[in-house]
Amino acid sequence: MFFMTRRNGFKHFWKLGKEEFNTQWFDVSKKGDLLVKEGYYQYNVAELAKKYGTPLEIVFPHIIERRARNLIDIFNAYIKLNDYRGRFFYHYPMKVNQSKEFVLSLISEGANLETSSANELWIVKRLWEQEKFADRTRVLCNGPKTEKYLNLIDELDRKGLMITPIVEEASEFDFFKRYKGEIGVRVDMNLRVRSHWDKKFNLFGIREDDLLHMGKIRNLAVLSYHISSQIETVDGFTAPVRRAVQLYAKMREKNPGLDTINIGGGGGVPYEKKRFYTSKAAIQRIVKTFKQQCMRLQVREPNIICEWGRHVAAPAQISVFSVISEKPVKEGYAKRWYTIDGSFINDLADTWAIHQKWHVIPAKGMDTRRVQKVWLAGSSCDSDDKYTAGGGHVLLPRIEEGDRPLIAVLDTGAYQDALASYHCLLSHPAKIVCKDGDVTVARKRDTAEEVGKRFGW
Ligand SMILES: *Cc1c(COP(=O)(O)O)cnc(C)c1O
Repeated sequence: MFFMTRRNGFKHFWKLGKEEFNTQWFDVSKKGDLLVKEGYYQYNVAELAKKYGTPLEIVFPHIIERRARNLIDIFNAYIKLNDYRGRFFYHYPMKVNQSKEFVLSLISEGANLETSSANELWIVKRLWEQEKFADRTRVLCNGPKTEKYLNLIDELDRKGLMITPIVEEASEFDFFKRYKGEIGVRVDMNLRVRSHWDKKFNLFGIREDDLLHMGKIRNLAVLSYHISSQIETVDGFTAPVRRAVQLYAKMREKNPGLDTINIGGGGGVPYEKKRFYTSKAAIQRIVKTFKQQCMRLQVREPNIICEWGRHVAAPAQISVFSVISEKPVKEGYAKRWYTIDGSFINDLADTWAIHQKWHVIPAKGMDTRRVQKVWLAGSSCDSDDKYTAGGGHVLLPRIEEGDRPLIAVLDTGAYQDALASYHCLLSHPAKIVCKDGDVTVARKRDTAEEVGKRFGW
């Protein structure tokens, strides 16, 4: 492995510094530590782990901001290029990561919001009361509508917030009969795409036929769908667009106020650092498909709403763990088990829930040529608390006498925090935020007293 003798060789080896993998901000220091760059500033992950301890989550708001800006700019650029007459609106789906440093960064870049529950909408209410967002910011409300949720929607509408509930099932129409503002409907399109969630039965939305039978729907402005998350191919975006525009054209005959299609989430992240579509390629095809389909059907070009959350949020956080022990793997593709001081079940729950794969790299000693194939074990006493890269392996430095390797899992900014749990009563990782050269603690590591209290002790 002669190429690894140079620093750039190590950077290349660990797949850092590459825009197509969202690692353009990452680098290797002369000493072999993992670095994250923000303009003139840089953060040394090994030093941060030493100072704040592990397990540790590190959030980089500049990455969120940059990714939201890129998404908005690319959509607008292709809208212009295609001479498309609808407008583009980005709505951040809060369920992806409700943390303050995520949501505030996105609002500062002009993102609108989308909520999935009454409690998320309560955060919106607070932000709005504190005048944290611009007057033109619009909020879409998805998810099952409990009474609390409905009442909060109504309250905020009456107070003048631009809030558009998305009706997910026919029974919700009753409530919105008296609603003053615009509403949307969610369609359950009879269509499947390649992704994590290639589900046969969709829980949400109203069937196409049923929507057409309803004829006129009062105050209808938005036709909404959400096919899946982490869609794997560009065709997975264009096929639903074609179908939705067709439905939109039919629904407009009775609903002339319908002027917007919401394409939901789905924008993916190259977690495994293998070939993947770029956002530019996907968005180019999406806008083009809208244009062509509208021309074909001779229908007014709708505004486009996009709710890609994972795509924007995942690369903005990394999770850092120390390796506390090792033991041999008896049979398998890897040689050693490395046990970390955190938990996959608790801290990176999708590893367990949906067999999510991650790019795992060393956060120090990145300049070693002595690497080996390992599997990772979490420190809950649960034999499911492990990461084997789907039966493959993770390449990490060998453990030298008296050394505790430090590892970083990339792209952990989407979903993991809100899914986190307390199996074996392990403490949640501490969380720090790196911005403008400063480091602040967003969440302290919880103590035994604090964890015990949750369980009545
Ligand atoms: C979860 C969800 C999203 C976000 O999807 P990602 O592809 O994971 O970013 C967007 N819209 C709706 C309605 C959702 O439920």
